[in-house]
Amino acid sequence: MGDERLTLSAELLERYGTTGPRYTSYPPVPRWRDRDQFGPSEHRAALAAAAAPTRSVYVHVPFCERRCLYCGCNVVITRSPERAEGYLDWVAREVELVGQHVSETRPATQVHWGGGTPTFLSPGQLERLWAIQVERFPLAEGAEVGVEIDPRVTDREQLATLAGVGFNRLSLGVQDTDPKVQEAIGRIQPVELTRDTIAAARELGFGSINVDLIYGLPHQSEERFSQTLRHVLELAPERIALFNYAHLPQRFKHQRAIPSEALPSGMDKLRLFTSAIDVLSTQGYRFIGLDHFAREDDELARAHDAGTLQRNFMGYSTRAGSDAFAFGASAIADVGGRYVQNEPDLKAYGAAIAAGELPTRRGLELSGDDLLRRALILRLLCNDRVSRQGLAADFPQLLAPGFEQVFARDLERLAPLVADGLVRLEGDWIVITPLGRLFARNVAMCFDEPLHSGQGPRVQYSKTH
Ligand code: SF4
Repeated sequence: MGDERLTLSAELLERYGTTGPRYTSYPPVPRWRDRDQFGPSEHRAALAAAAAPTRSVYVHVPFCERRCLYCGCNVVITRSPERAEGYLDWVAREVELVGQHVSETRPATQVHWGGGTPTFLSPGQLERLWAIQVERFPLAEGAEVGVEIDPRVTDREQLATLAGVGFNRLSLGVQDTDPKVQEAIGRIQPVELTRDTIAAARELGFGSINVDLIYGLPHQSEERFSQTLRHVLELAPERIALFNYAHLPQRFKHQRAIPSEALPSGMDKLRLFTSAIDVLSTQGYRFIGLDHFAREDDELARAHDAGTLQRNFMGYSTRAGSDAFAFGASAIADVGGRYVQNEPDLKAYGAAIAAGELPTRRGLELSGDDLLRRALILRLLCNDRVSRQGLAADFPQLLAPGFEQVFARDLERLAPLVADGLVRLEGDWIVITPLGRLFARNVAMCFDEPLHSGQGPRVQYSKTH
């Protein structure tokens, strides 16, 4: 970070340490329409409109054997493998239902299984789920096929099964390797276990490994966390995600068991992040945006350098323009110009499927203004810059009155960030500075007009820092 650390001040943190969307989608999920306004018939229309040249597939496996105290995911805690059997029946039926509304088969260039814990499934169940998926969504040659695993419940046989059917990317939850931190977050995972899992995955031919870490956890300090980073660097993953812990005990009751007095706050938390950027940058990793790092030889780092990086619900990617189909409870699709989320509640999901209906919970058909703002925000978050002319070329009608006029209020909101050195206006380009990359969500929020004009529900978003 060099010079940027010198100008990172408590005052800056106070000014920009607000709450806001994470922008995994634009518009963010709380502004989507609920089932009474966007239900199965709108879902069917989305599927019928799927016309993108490529496809991607996400499958959600919601089960975990025990709950980590920091978790903010939609999970079902159980130790009963039979529950997974019934779930796979529902997913199979959902794939069939979706298939009835999709006009043709086009191979998938990207597949991701997430959770929960996909390796809650036995080897036989993993094979079954794979067969369900590829029957309707065959793989394109060279497809990226990734799965999230929890080393605590993943054995070599499961890894071999995943590699055998075609998975080539692995994402492991680690969070922190310090025993005291692990105890406080209810996730005991010896570093040797993580090491052995990665070694087995490499042997089995997984070509790309991602490690998830979290900063802002109880008892973390720069010194302790630097040890976690050392452990992870020894494992040499291609990618590292370093998420900001969102402590929302009002929303997630289990987080109340986390000792709040042990949480690093404010400046300490931001220092954990900037120190990590320093360490990883000197060890051959590129900070590609928000909370993600890629080794310099990884295609994401190259795409970031070339200004062609993309982002979708599965994270950063080099692949653009796909219709993203999604299956399972709470799964989110992005098809035919609409976002669609399935019922997060397992019972409601199963009941809809059993009734032969799509399990739609909420969704949104994106307006022209949504598409324009989404493109602008994504370019900023993926490539730290956006060209006004480039945007005008892609949205000629909407930007016919001129960028300055269409985004007048947004540019007013951006002015203080320019004055504070977070953003630079360089001719045609709006550029996030290295210091501004720490506050990228704040920059994106400037262009999120509905957030400021009071449209949509009042929502408790997580803190940007
Ligand atoms: S393994 Fe992941 S999804 Fe499951 S409880 Fe822990 S953090 Fe949540």
